[in-house]
Amino acid sequence: MAVLLIAEDDEDIALVLVRVFKRTGMTVFRASDGRAAFEAILEKRPDIVLTDLGMPHMDGWELIDAIRAHPDDDVRRVPIAILSGHLRPGDPRAGQAQVCAIMLKPCPNEQLLATMEELVSVGPHGHDAADNLCPADLPVTV
Ligand SMILES: [Zn+2]
Repeated sequence: MAVLLIAEDDEDIALVLVRVFKRTGMTVFRASDGRAAFEAILEKRPDIVLTDLGMPHMDGWELIDAIRAHPDDDVRRVPIAILSGHLRPGDPRAGQAQVCAIMLKPCPNEQLLATMEELVSVGPHGHDAADNLCPADLPVTV
């Protein structure tokens, strides 16, 4: 079964997300800030990552950059989805981020589950600044 790492600083949202994904049989780890999330990714080696953007210590953008810059393939190539409540339409960082999907809060559970299940089935793959095409073909703009 897939291992999911959720980076989310809001306790209430994190509780709901963990419950939703655990119900599908996934193994779910949750970190409450970006730095803790990065440490958990190095330790747990999740199959997929779902991250908020506004978080203490290291925000979601910095977390994504740290993952994509990591020397180990199984860290750098993990599929990442953003779940944010503060991303404004047209934010240029959304189009440039090396992520597989962007979802906005509040996001229906069905879309969350379908997105993360798609990323599990696509599996690990590269994203880089020169060739930021994702095989998952999910929405990455707002
Ligand atoms: Zn991707």
